[in-house]
Amino acid sequence: MSLTVVGSMAFDALETPFGKTDKIVGGAATYISLAASYFVKPVNVVSVVGGDFDQDHIKLMHEREISTEGVQVKENEKSFFWSGRYFNDMNSRETLVTELNVLGDFDPAIPDSYQGCEFLMLGNLAPAVQRSVIERLHNRPKLIVMDTMNFWMNIALDELKETMALVDVLSINDEEARQLSGEYSLVKAAKKIMAMGPKFLIIKKGEHGALLFSEDKVFFAPALPLEEVFDPTGAGDTFAGGFVGYIASTGDTSFENMKRAVIHGSALASFCVEKFGTERLKDLSQEEVAARVQQFVDLVKFDTVLQ
Ligand code: AMP
Repeated sequence: MSLTVVGSMAFDALETPFGKTDKIVGGAATYISLAASYFVKPVNVVSVVGGDFDQDHIKLMHEREISTEGVQVKENEKSFFWSGRYFNDMNSRETLVTELNVLGDFDPAIPDSYQGCEFLMLGNLAPAVQRSVIERLHNRPKLIVMDTMNFWMNIALDELKETMALVDVLSINDEEARQLSGEYSLVKAAKKIMAMGPKFLIIKKGEHGALLFSEDKVFFAPALPLEEVFDPTGAGDTFAGGFVGYIASTGDTSFENMKRAVIHGSALASFCVEKFGTERLKDLSQEEVAARVQQFVDLVKFDTVLQ
């Protein structure tokens, strides 16, 4: 089954309690496509970069059978740049710099070879651009998953709501769910957000796991308790890539299968945070991924006798 991913490809500069990086490759589509490539091939990316983008990274994407035919290169412009700093608990961060550069007037083009994709992942981007990708696909995919962030809630709320109304699954973090709904209770927030369009809602809670809601069901997946979280950047995107990649590999969009997909997404995200940037996601073996998924199964499995 084919998967198309749209989102930012970026340079990030990060500060965590463990150290600092200069410009390293990041971006939503980067993390999503790497994560999804462990479950489904090919992964088709729609994005835009400047002439300064790292060619070794593009090569790595090709090695992982990620197509960059839909990645525009603006030779004389600069790639999107984002810089963030994490606080000691690593669950919260502040954005220091967002330079949209090539993303500022991004007009996505969908190559013919991407048409007919059954699964679409709208990674973090301006909501109007996310919507234009849905509109430029000749056939509506079987499942559309959307990620977004507070940045767009602050500056483009109306467009965000318009795009949300067109998707099946929305993936956001707890703070964003509260901001979007105006509700502190995540259960109340979920109801309000699903009334805006998406039939399924994922609320990510960092080291406290993730919740999957549908109209009448809820599922909780923990995050793997890790001794050291080195850099959480991209964990949310990696989660989304693992989630949608797993669903695309099975073709099954039922709630039961989404539960498995949440576990696969959580497993991939647990690798992402072990090193800076995309470092840990570059060359995992299938055995490592399978063993990590098994760790999640063992973490939550228990027997009991009801009295
Ligand atoms: P995450 O940690 O999963 O929320 O994702 C972090 C990634 O999102 C970084 O690699 C950034 O390059 C990218 N990012 C941050 N802000 C934006 C934005 N406004 N639009 C698109 N991508 C962004």
